[in-house]
Formats: sequence, C-alpha cells, structure tokens
Amino acid sequence: MFAAFRRAFAQKSRPNAWRRGAWRLALILTLCAGFALPAQAQRAPHFEFIRDAEIEHYLRTLATPIFRAADIDPNAVSIALIKSNAVNAFVAGGMNEFFFTGLLQMTESPEQLAGIIAHETGHIAGGHLVRGSEAMRNASAQAILGMVLGVAAGVASGNGQATAAAISGAQNVAERGLLSFSRAQESSADAAGLSFLDRAGVSSNGMLAFMKKLAGQELLPSDRQVEYVRTHPLTQDRIDAVAHHLETSPYADSHEDPKFQVMHERMKAKLMGFLQPQTALLRTTDKDPRISARYARAIAFYQTNQLPRALALTDGLLREEPDNPFFYELKAQMLFENSRVDEAVALYKKAVDLLPDSALLRVAYGHALLESKNADNLDLAIRQLTEANRLEEREPETWRFLASAWGKKAELTKDQQYEGLVSYALAEEAVARGADKEAQQFADRALKVLPKSTPYWLRAQDIKLSIDTEGHR
Ligand SMILES: [Zn+2]
Repeated sequence: MFAAFRRAFAQKSRPNAWRRGAWRLALILTLCAGFALPAQAQRAPHFEFIRDAEIEHYLRTLATPIFRAADIDPNAVSIALIKSNAVNAFVAGGMNEFFFTGLLQMTESPEQLAGIIAHETGHIAGGHLVRGSEAMRNASAQAILGMVLGVAAGVASGNGQATAAAISGAQNVAERGLLSFSRAQESSADAAGLSFLDRAGVSSNGMLAFMKKLAGQELLPSDRQVEYVRTHPLTQDRIDAVAHHLETSPYADSHEDPKFQVMHERMKAKLMGFLQPQTALLRTTDKDPRISARYARAIAFYQTNQLPRALALTDGLLREEPDNPFFYELKAQMLFENSRVDEAVALYKKAVDLLPDSALLRVAYGHALLESKNADNLDLAIRQLTEANRLEEREPETWRFLASAWGKKAELTKDQQYEGLVSYALAEEAVARGADKEAQQFADRALKVLPKSTPYWLRAQDIKLSIDTEGHR
C-alpha cells in the first residue's frame, strides 16, 4: 500500500524534483494527483488536494474569529484546499470546509473571503451537512471528500486509476447533486453568516461584493457558470438581504486588520506562482517593488526549473523579511527538491523555530531530516513528526513518514519494538484514510509486538476496539 501510494504520486511529478522520493511540495497533492486518466475522462475535471502551511495559516487566522462567533471550536473545523480552477466552496462530512483554489483566486480582499467563510460556517451551524458516518469523523478531510464522492474504495486500495476515474466521472460536485443546498438553506446560511461577521466585527461588505461578482454568472449558460453558483443558488433576494443588513450593521465600514490584506495578496501570489507560473512570469518583473509580485515570480521560476533565478529572488525576500517562516520554507523546498538536503534541513529548522505551531512545517522539517544521510538526525526527525501529529491528527502523510523513521530505527538498532511502532503508525495512517480493515490488521500486528500497556500499545488497542471484526465501525 505504501509503495502503491508513492508510485501513484510519482507518475505526475516532474522527474528531477521527485527522483529522490521527495514527494512533499509546499503545495502537496494528496489524493488523486496525476493518475493516468482513461481517455474518456481526460477533459473532465478531477480533484487534487493541496496542503500549504502559509495559505492554511491565513485561512485559519481569518476564520478563527468567525468560528468563535458561531460558538464553534476553531480546532474542531478542518479547512481543506482543492486544486481546481472551478470556483467553489462547501462543507461536508461534519466540520470540514473545502475551498477550491479557483475561488480563493477570485476573491479580491480578506473581507470577501471572510464573507464566504461566514456563509459556509452558516451551513455548519445550520446543520446543512451531508450525513457523515462514524468513519468520516475519524478520517482526514481528504478521505472524507473521497467518501462523499463515493471513491473510498479506490483510495483505500491504493488503486489510483480507479479513484481518478470515479472522480472524473463525477464531472463536478454540482452535477452530482451532492453538496448542493436549497434556496432556503442558502438564505439561512447568509443570515447566520451575517450575524457571525457582526459578532466578529467584520464588515459584510465583502460578502456583498463577492455576491455581486457572482451575480453576473447567473446570466451565463449553466455550463459556463462558476460551480459556486450551482451549489449555492444565488438569488436577488439574497443580495438584497445582505445589502439591507449593511444599512444597519455598525461594522459596515470596518476593515480587516491590514495584516490580512498582506496575507491575502501573498496567498494569491503563491497560488498564481504554483498553478499558473507562466502567467506569473508575464505579469511581474524582478524589480517589482511589491513583495507579493516577487514572491509569485520566485515560485514561478522554481516551477519552471529556473532554480538560480528562483533562489536569487527568494534570498532578496529573506533579506527584506528575515523573520518570515514561509520564505525560509520556500527556499528549503527548492533546495530539498534539488538534492541539497542539508541546507534544506537548516532552513526548515529556521521556519519551524519561527512558527512552531505549524504541523505542516514540522512534517517538512521531519521529512528533510529523515532524508538526510546523517543517522544522528533520525531521533530529531521522529520528534518533529510526533509533534506534528500532536498538532494535527489524522494526516496520513505524517504517519507514513513516522512509519519510515521507525523502520530506519528498527534497521539500525535491531530492536523489535520499532517494528511494532511501524505497524502502529501504519494503523494510524489507515485510520486517517478511512481504511478500517487495514487499520485493524496493522493494529493487530502492533499489539503482538509492542510491550503490553505501553502508550502506543494502548492506542493500537483503541484502534482495534473501535473497529469490529467486519472492518466497520
Ligand atoms: Zn451556501
């Protein structure tokens, strides 16, 4: 299974970047990246998840006051990014908010994005959710979307081709009739969203501006409309209600903290640099005074295999902002993928020191430590990955790295306990993918080897007991 995942991921990747098994990008594709698609599915959209420490940090910082205003524990909500030009966002499987990169790129300000987050949070608060099974509650957001779209079998078996075909066959979320809301639910999500924005002291102007932007879409034939309009039916009533609310809201003219504007610009710069590098190179110059422009450009050079220019620009950014963890991360990623692992290790350390609560940065640091030839780094790698797991449970990738780290320990020490830990980590990895049967098999194996009643033994037992003999919860 482990190998199947890695093979599947390696197919799409640029050969130079992935040769060393370096399959972590700052933007990582985590579900169905790049499987060869059957001919009839070639033009159909399919989903790839991306993980990015900076963008997730921004979304979370922006969303936290809104979640609090909704009386929702911010830590209980997971935010997932889907790489797609489609403009959409939705909630599914409990407290999971999914944002398409096309939607993030269409927003022009933090207030607009806050409006969308408030509306989606209104769906959560209103209980407008696709019913989640028990497995969904324990799985990662990626696995949940797979389950919602009915592709869990493909994911669980590591049969990427089946997964990609199933998702492509789905055409898009809206046409499947999944995740679409009624007009009544839309109005109620707006009303809830507006009250959350007021409670958080955020102007609803952004919500109105984005709705007006979408309103032009209603006139287009349905195959040219953005998906968001189809999953969240837009009516003049909704726009009028938001405009009316603004007339009386004390926060109508308030603005988000200027730091959010900076974060918003960098999010858009990063997405353009990674996803549309040619466009980024056309629209910017090396001498552009805006950091966001040079950031987009540095990433675009890196994406188009022009490493020296990418590094030169990134070094310039670091001189201007020597405490920016994401600039260190970018440089580390560039070097790591070009086999300069020891330099990458030092830069990732710097990034983690600057933003210790980012699970993704710790995973990247742990991975770089794991890939370095220095066996002394192994224990530090395990510490980083363990801490990443504490900060963010249910991320299959972290458990895969940890399994690999414990596997190396087993080789070095010939200590059988580490073999037990490998099985335990693979059990957790399977839980995070929603693959209960595999989770149970690995938990069984771990229980046979690990010393009884130790913490990891107990957790392996928890996994085993939470799944019945049929492999279901
Ligand atoms: Zn909606």
